Amino acid sequence: MKTAVFYGIEDVRIEERDKPTIGADDYLVKVKAAAICGSDLRTYQHGHAKIKQPQILGHEFAGEVVAVGPNITELSVGDRVSVHPGIPCGHCYYCDRGIQNLCGSRKVIGIHYPGAFAEYIKIPKQTLILGTCVKIPKGVPYEIAALGDPTVSALNGEELIDARLGDTLLILGCGPIGMLHAMIARLKGASTIIMANRSVRRLEMAKERKLADYYFCLQTDGDLKKFVKKITNGMGPNKVVVANTSKASAKQAVEVVAKGGLVQLFAGFSKENPILDLDGNLIHYNQLTVSSSYGSTPREFQLAEKLLFEGKINGKSLITHHLPLEEINRGFELMKNGEALKVILTYES
Ligand SMILES: [Zn+2]
Ligand SMILES: [Zn+2]
Repeated sequence: MKTAVFYGIEDVRIEERDKPTIGADDYLVKVKAAAICGSDLRTYQHGHAKIKQPQILGHEFAGEVVAVGPNITELSVGDRVSVHPGIPCGHCYYCDRGIQNLCGSRKVIGIHYPGAFAEYIKIPKQTLILGTCVKIPKGVPYEIAALGDPTVSALNGEELIDARLGDTLLILGCGPIGMLHAMIARLKGASTIIMANRSVRRLEMAKERKLADYYFCLQTDGDLKKFVKKITNGMGPNKVVVANTSKASAKQAVEVVAKGGLVQLFAGFSKENPILDLDGNLIHYNQLTVSSSYGSTPREFQLAEKLLFEGKINGKSLITHHLPLEEINRGFELMKNGEALKVILTYES
């Protein structure tokens, strides 16, 4: 089978490999669509501490079940499925409390197991026990179902900040994740959404998709604090999501959020230098909550897929490019220079 194998920084090679053989507790999926995640790009550019090279990346995918082991009773050959990459243990302190994203034994497809940038992928039964394998209804394209992972990541964030009617939400970052935050916040009833970004191009993309009520370019539109205060009667947004990896953005979020407000650090920071420079007195005297969101849970994954299937989240609007698996390196380039939102890799037949 054809695969795209990560050998090291900026080194992904197209290789022929044997089709995976499945055991009694596995099933085999023929990948029909896979999206390149921002985290795949990060691995491509900087490597990944937990990935042992060479490894097949890719964890946002959907496909057709082509073989099932004898212990798999929940699926049949021919089923169309989308699988979440996170595979928690299902029985630890965190799993018991429904926060499986924090499970210490959690394994991830595309990190610990070979990923979906391959024509076939072997999946363990655990995904069926946990509910992280979702059947795709007729008529829903594979590429839409493949967006379950970015959608559910943003959904976890929006559930944690409890976006609701009356909220003014500022989203710092206009990548696919920032955009998904805007879509979900809108669904949840947020009254005013402001999106801010450094690159004008991404901001334009958000504007074209009518995702927010206000747009602000951090490079050319002047002072963000003044801008948000004007919109909010001098208060500032009561919730701010930092949907990018810039430490300056986190600092800015604390400076512009309303008193009593909440800042969510949605993305991780560079592992070499993750220490943030936040004004402790602003946090204390304004009684701010600085929080975070990481990963997602099986329950949320099922919900995210449902929102995509029903078109309540417009997955299609995030797909800007389709490329055959062989051209994956072009996909990384398109993402690197900010041209692409979601790049969908396609597979022969
Ligand atoms: Zn992802
Ligand atoms: Zn666990």
